[in-house]
Amino acid sequence: MDQIKIDNLEVYAYHGVFPEETKEGQIFQIDAVLYTDLRPAGETDELTLSTHYGEVCQFINRFLREKTYLLIEAAAEHLTQELLLAFPRIEKLELELKKPHAPIGLPFENVSVKIERGWKRAYLGIGSNLGERQKLIDQAVMKLKENKMIKDVKCSKIISTEPYGDTALYEFLNGAIELKTLLVPDKLLEFLHQIEAEAGRERKIHWGPRTLDLDILFYEDFISNDPVLTIPHPDMENRLFVLEPLDELCPWYFNPVTGKNVRQMLRELKESKASVHAEGDGKA
Ligand code: ATP
Ligand code: CA
Ligand code: CA
Repeated sequence: MDQIKIDNLEVYAYHGVFPEETKEGQIFQIDAVLYTDLRPAGETDELTLSTHYGEVCQFINRFLREKTYLLIEAAAEHLTQELLLAFPRIEKLELELKKPHAPIGLPFENVSVKIERGWKRAYLGIGSNLGERQKLIDQAVMKLKENKMIKDVKCSKIISTEPYGDTALYEFLNGAIELKTLLVPDKLLEFLHQIEAEAGRERKIHWGPRTLDLDILFYEDFISNDPVLTIPHPDMENRLFVLEPLDELCPWYFNPVTGKNVRQMLRELKESKASVHAEGDGKA
């Protein structure tokens, strides 16, 4: 992706663990790489279609002068988050925060932390088979949209499905959601659990009736085997109610574990269901 680069921006600020650092202050230097599509501005010569690097520098200066952190790790973490929120055209940000006069007591040239942060694309499954199902789904989508750490929320058509497993009695409404987020996977899951709880979700029986269920299906090409958070969702290729709405949003998205894309998983599942039916008919 295209880049805007800022080298060695100097800021006088007050971060450090020693009292004299927070009182006297010292010079900090910042290198930043802003990953953003420069073509719209390049083709039109229009500043509003780019990210104003002057404003980015002023923002960094103001942020680092006004706040006080003990650690440059924390200063860098918070600064990158605020930059990504304030300048929506930046997809990803590399930031190095240097402290050339850190009180080390030995000769050295520089010390720094360098981090990379950015918006991540995730896909969710959403379902409800209890209460005012459509309303609960709409409210959940609204809550996702209202979280500043989440943007570009898109919801598929909501489909009506027969219950999955033996325990659920009512018909489900199901859909899929695409979004971009600054939340890491476990923080995203935490937020989904909060939305479920606010919808009155009670965890009684697995696959039992529930007001709201939000699952993470994909998070970029991230893979996790942890039972607390398994990504991609391990059972997606057996579920039409997941694959059908997902196919509307991202047919070519790959499951990084199996290498199959959504369209392919959907086709194979439909074929296997059709052949099970055919066998059943044969015996009858
Ligand atoms: P299924 O995950 O088979 O659709 P379920 O959605 O009914 O079942 P829940 O009772 O909602 O299951 O969730 C049980 C636990 O599953 C959650 O507390 C969560 O920690 C864990 N979990 C693991 N992977 C995921 C994921 N990708 N998305 C959401 N929850 C997950
Ligand atoms: Ca589920
Ligand atoms: Ca769930």
